[in-house]
Amino acid sequence: QNDLRTALLEINKEAARYYYYQLSQKGGQAAHDYLTGRALTEETIRRFGLGYSTMYRDDLYRYLKKKGYSDGQLKESGLVTYDEKQGPHDKFWNRVMFPIMDVNHRVIGFGGRVMGDAKPKYLNSPETRIFDKSRNLYGLDIAKSSRKPSLLICEGYMDVIAMHQAGFTNAVASLGTALTTQHASLLKRYTQQVLLVYDSDGAGVKAAMRAIPMLKEAGLTAKVLNLRPYKDPDEFMKNLGPEAFQERIDQAQNSFMFELSVMENEYDMDSPEGKTAFYRAAAEKLLEFSEEIERNNYIEAVAKKYPVGYENLRRLVNQMGLSK
Ligand code: ATP
Ligand code: MN
Ligand code: MN
Ligand code: MN
Repeated sequence: QNDLRTALLEINKEAARYYYYQLSQKGGQAAHDYLTGRALTEETIRRFGLGYSTMYRDDLYRYLKKKGYSDGQLKESGLVTYDEKQGPHDKFWNRVMFPIMDVNHRVIGFGGRVMGDAKPKYLNSPETRIFDKSRNLYGLDIAKSSRKPSLLICEGYMDVIAMHQAGFTNAVASLGTALTTQHASLLKRYTQQVLLVYDSDGAGVKAAMRAIPMLKEAGLTAKVLNLRPYKDPDEFMKNLGPEAFQERIDQAQNSFMFELSVMENEYDMDSPEGKTAFYRAAAEKLLEFSEEIERNNYIEAVAKKYPVGYENLRRLVNQMGLSK
């Protein structure tokens, strides 16, 4: 029913207003300090509509009931949970709140972060009639009109916000889920090129390796940005600042060379067998380029980076292509 969708959008909007208001109240002081402590400005807090869910476990519930919403609607919103024993209580309490907007700037859900190191660090709204995690990207409502040549994809709320604050208003994040094919098609509506800015840990590398084929499938070119020695864009920005970040954007590796450098780790490059196996795998991958000029350009790039002669590699690629 469209009625339910409309009500859920209203409920989320009211909740966002409520959380935002609480951040400015006495009880929200610690949350506000937390955000300021993470170097967010007043303007950033306002632009992203950040807020605070209070200590009281049914504050939002009672507020929304007073506004006239029914228990059925509130349950569907995912913002209130109904416990047999405790009765209705808010999903989020004592957390810093990040409203999640769809491309049309309508609030469709929330992420909430604890202010210390309690677990779970983040809670997200469940999927509802208006919130489909695989079809929405955090920050896209702003990034879509950034008029930059690419979109930056990162992992988290704070990463998006830190990049936007530093002037990189083309940053978006998938919400605690891996990038999906639906995300890729959504991105394709707004850009031709995507830069992956995932965390520089093993999980981030894995996420990039999974995202690249999907992005290519959607017809996007992908590059991968190296944040090391920092863990994520937020920390990079805090330590090295926007100019250094722009340099990393300019130096971003194209997705093929990134995939190759990850593959390299699987081989013993100090032994002849290991090297041979690696070059065979590289040749196999080079064969995926069906256009000859493109393939040759990549052969050249590989030969520049690895100690295999251009002619040698080209011959290997051709041989393997013939034996298919
Ligand atoms: P912070 O900088 O605030 O510590 P982060 O974004 O660096 O957070 P990560 O652990 O790298 O945190 O997680 C990346 C993203 O994954 C988060 O922004 C959040 O959207 C999601 N996420 C992290 N932990 C959880 C969790 N326990 N449950 C659901 N989603 C989570
Ligand atoms: Mn991570
Ligand atoms: Mn972080
Ligand atoms: Mn992180």
